[in-house]
Amino acid sequence: MSADGEFCYVGIKKCGCMASAIVDCERTRSKEIARFMRDTLKEGLTIERAPIERVRKELMHCPHDKKAEKGSQEGPLFAGAGGEA
Ligand SMILES: [Zn+2]
Repeated sequence: MSADGEFCYVGIKKCGCMASAIVDCERTRSKEIARFMRDTLKEGLTIERAPIERVRKELMHCPHDKKAEKGSQEGPLFAGAGGEA
């Protein structure tokens, strides 16, 4: 019943949406958090601390990402394919 009070570390994308998160509690090992931070920074995300309630609502709800994917992936699969047979 005491779900509030827990915090997460979240990876924030450039558009401001949450892309990833790890719960920051006693059960989470500092090694795991360190790895999460390293990976998150590697992906170019910003790390913030947020209440778990907010993370549950906002995590992975990025309307910008879908648009970007559709716009940039206009069939690059067949570009420059060698026609050897
Ligand atoms: Zn977004």
